[in-house]
Amino acid sequence: MTASSLAGVRVVVMGLGHFGGGIGVARWLVEQGARVTVTDQASPDKLADSVRQLEGLPVQFRLGGHDVADLEDCQLLVVSPAVPKDRSPFVAEAVARSIAITSEMNLFLERCPVKRVIGVTGSAGKSTTTAMLGAILRGAAEALGAPHVFVGGNIGQSLLAELPRMDARDVIVLELSSFQLEDMAALPWSPPLAVITNLQPNHLDRHKTMEAYAGAKLNIARYQSADGRVFVREGDEVVAEQVRAIGAGDRLVRFAFDSRWSDVLRLPGRHNRDNAAAAIAVCHHLGVDDALIRRGLADFHGLEHRLEFVAERGGVRYYNDSKSTTPASAELALESFEAPVIMLVGGGDKGMSFDGLAARLAAVAKAVVCYGQTGPAIHLRVRRSLAEAGGTIPVELATDFGRAVDLARGLALPGDVVVLSPACTSYDMFANYEERGETFRRLVRAMPV
Ligand code: ADP
Repeated sequence: MTASSLAGVRVVVMGLGHFGGGIGVARWLVEQGARVTVTDQASPDKLADSVRQLEGLPVQFRLGGHDVADLEDCQLLVVSPAVPKDRSPFVAEAVARSIAITSEMNLFLERCPVKRVIGVTGSAGKSTTTAMLGAILRGAAEALGAPHVFVGGNIGQSLLAELPRMDARDVIVLELSSFQLEDMAALPWSPPLAVITNLQPNHLDRHKTMEAYAGAKLNIARYQSADGRVFVREGDEVVAEQVRAIGAGDRLVRFAFDSRWSDVLRLPGRHNRDNAAAAIAVCHHLGVDDALIRRGLADFHGLEHRLEFVAERGGVRYYNDSKSTTPASAELALESFEAPVIMLVGGGDKGMSFDGLAARLAAVAKAVVCYGQTGPAIHLRVRRSLAEAGGTIPVELATDFGRAVDLARGLALPGDVVVLSPACTSYDMFANYEERGETFRRLVRAMPV
């Protein structure tokens, strides 16, 4: 791959966002001597946080909409993965003017000197697998002969700023979204080691069909050389078949969780055993020995808001799964524990059906506390499921969040677990899922020990 100098080049960054990619690329471009304009359709108000992070830099802002006048002498357009390129008149105009188009990730990959790059994609489990792998490999850096182990990509960290520190012997773990993978076809490049955690039909709003979505995800293996490897879960024949269909069957490695790791894996749930199995398989391929894997796994306590262990109070363990915004992820949380579960569910309405979740709650949970905008609807459905199945468990309805947590505490006995896994958005009561999870943590930690 070739990467030309950006000194003096007029660059427009489209999509500043809140997650660091836009900020990281704008800052890096300024350092390269580029003349940078940042444009975003969101208002300056909404982007105040991100704009502040670029304060003092010679960046021109065009917020609250995109103006094709900014393409006038533009030589390079850096588009955020969040922008639907095929539907954007601004991008169409750039194409019409033959302006080169790239992405933060592609700018990085064109310049990245590191050989051992592990890419992680999938519909769910990307961040967890990426972070877990990063944690194990950081502890194994010396054994790997790697001066540094970097973790970045879609997990929220632009690696452009790290380029000057990078060494060919380093190791990088890169979380890749389907949108980033779509853009990577332009290079074209795939990470030599690729993990596909799973593929479920989501993001179909942007990708239109499951084929297009899977097609973008498969870019993670499509351009590998013959010694590349693509890791797919044993039993996931749909994904394995798709890998074979792109001619990568010889590079396919299957992973499955081996129960000998059960005692060191800190994260609950079958899905996390899958994530660990993927991470372990990659480590084995890199030659990391089992003692180092054990140490890394034992030290990894998971990411915030994803079945995150908060505290034990009165013999009850509390878990924060605030990132769960769909009935399917709440079901996954419910099925993740051997101990009796008291579930906290409810929040903003996305118009999804709660029937399946309600039936599982009625069958599996010890008690359910519903709250928020969707609280009454879930409450009704769980009680209906119970009536149909002839079961009886406490099903409570709380008007405010603090009261809901209180009710859950009152229902729990030593040995039980209380899980906040809302199955809904946080927007009815909170700014975002992080704030909801932080509120839960605070309420739990304030309980008497
Ligand atoms: P992503 O980065 O792909 O969004 P995360 O690792 O952040 O995934 O996990 C988000 C949620 O997805 C978890 O809280 C859990 O509900 C679910 N999940 C995680 N790993 C898996 C998996 N391997 N299979 C199915 N669902 C999973």
